[in-house]
Amino acid sequence: MMDAEKWKDTILAKSREYMEIGVSVASDLTEKGKTQARILSNQAKISRAQRQLGALVYSLAKGNEENQPLVDKYIDMIDSIEQENRQLKAKLTPTEADEVEHVVQTEADLADVMADPAGEEQPADEPADVQDGQEAGPAKKFCPQCGAEVAPDALFCNKCGAQL
Ligand SMILES: [Zn+2]
Repeated sequence: MMDAEKWKDTILAKSREYMEIGVSVASDLTEKGKTQARILSNQAKISRAQRQLGALVYSLAKGNEENQPLVDKYIDMIDSIEQENRQLKAKLTPTEADEVEHVVQTEADLADVMADPAGEEQPADEPADVQDGQEAGPAKKFCPQCGAEVAPDALFCNKCGAQL
């Protein structure tokens, strides 16, 4: 599978690039560094919520279903994190905000690469060699509220909408 190998290399290269920039920003322990680190972690949350929302809308549309309250929960969550990031960015100088923009773009690239790895989802922090289909998936996760099985990285229960 040449394609899978290619994706693996791309993901690894992107991860390394992201980590290097991320570490240099996060290890800056000034107030500015903390603000940048917080923006970064918020941005990661937004990417994750957007991926979840995308998967949710896709599965709803495919099954000809609707679950507007759950979709709204994701949108509200993304909105409130984006609002916090706008406030955080307002504390930074344009140059400092640019530094974060650069990292954020890298993170978004990484998310893109990971969202489309030739049909199979591969979490970034998992070794990419486990592909036999045996013991590959992470442990199942269940909603503490209603007991429904939920995606390992879901933010809300698809059944009852409880925050996970
Ligand atoms: Zn539930």
